[in-house]
Amino acid sequence: MSGRPVDEIVRIASDLVRIPSVSDSGGVYAAVDFVAAWLKERGVKARIAEYGKGAPVAIAEAGSGKRSILLNGHVDVVPAGDPSRWKHDPFSGKMDKDYLYGRGAGDMKAGLAVFMYLTAELAGRVDYKIIFTAVSDEEVGGARGAKNTAERYRPDLVLDCEAGNSRFIGLGEKGILQVRLVTNGISAHGSMPSRGKNAIMLMLDDLKRLSAIAKLKVRAPKGIAEALKNSTMAYGPDVPIISYNPSVINGGVKINVVPDCCEAYVDMRIPPGMSTAKGLGIVRSIVKSAAVTVHSSAEPNYTEPGDPYVAGFVKAAKRYVANPIRIIKAGGTDGRFFRYKGIPTISFGPGDVRTIHAYNERAALKDIATSYKVYRDYMLALPL
Ligand SMILES: [Zn+2]
Repeated sequence: MSGRPVDEIVRIASDLVRIPSVSDSGGVYAAVDFVAAWLKERGVKARIAEYGKGAPVAIAEAGSGKRSILLNGHVDVVPAGDPSRWKHDPFSGKMDKDYLYGRGAGDMKAGLAVFMYLTAELAGRVDYKIIFTAVSDEEVGGARGAKNTAERYRPDLVLDCEAGNSRFIGLGEKGILQVRLVTNGISAHGSMPSRGKNAIMLMLDDLKRLSAIAKLKVRAPKGIAEALKNSTMAYGPDVPIISYNPSVINGGVKINVVPDCCEAYVDMRIPPGMSTAKGLGIVRSIVKSAAVTVHSSAEPNYTEPGDPYVAGFVKAAKRYVANPIRIIKAGGTDGRFFRYKGIPTISFGPGDVRTIHAYNERAALKDIATSYKVYRDYMLALPL
């Protein structure tokens, strides 16, 4: 490997951004092929597996030892949306002296490039096995990629290079409780609404009532309260509470008909300290008219802040980051599949958290360099 590591990493990340690997598109195959080919060129044994159709995984196993660590990344990205809203073509991989731009720059092709480089650089130089995996369905739930790698590997530690401004050390993430509400009314002529029962109004009343769920106090488990509080620095005030977002609503047939049916979807994220079952019970106790069914759910999860792997990571980060902060992530990531198996899982990586999934996504080159240095020091110091 020639040239400065960071220059090479940024080049890899830019090449990756140029592959439009939106989840469930053909681009994910091109992206995992690129990853595996790059590793092979550097002498790392890499292969492609496909545990679930349409979601190939690039896998490399390097080095050996009693212990193993798994580097988890994803090649897939969310769609770019309206191209005219981007300052630069979202798939051009454009860079200037400060940033790499484009869809996936932060989430998480810069981080993935850091892991690719480190796998090649440290293979055989550390006395543990490195399992590198690049999945391609993280943005659509991870049921085919990471869920399966978590079933197949038992590493001692998982590192995940998701966007976090190279400052936020993710120890866990909120749970997901997405529900579908349906209200049924009685149709009537629109000129005689009192003869009917308006399903849209029933729904609006329930949605309003349910908004109170965001005001409930959820007691944070011992040890994690500070991380939850710190998370507001990364994501704003929604992390320690049950966030409440009615996101889709459908109802009514015609302007002159009293609607007899209305459907709404609500996306709630549950902080550690509550289960999704408990959350669902609360939802059902608050709504008056709506039938509630679960659309999708995942339990909140975290690695103990006092875990020695976490302490070691904070130490490595402090060398390069003025004030690294341990947080609980607002959104879900593939890290949860490993935490559900009891494996310590740390999430840290470059990428501006305010621009991920947004227009003009970007990753600061300085952050990419920081992530590389933190991970390199940390991985060289392992096992602790
Ligand atoms: Zn991501």
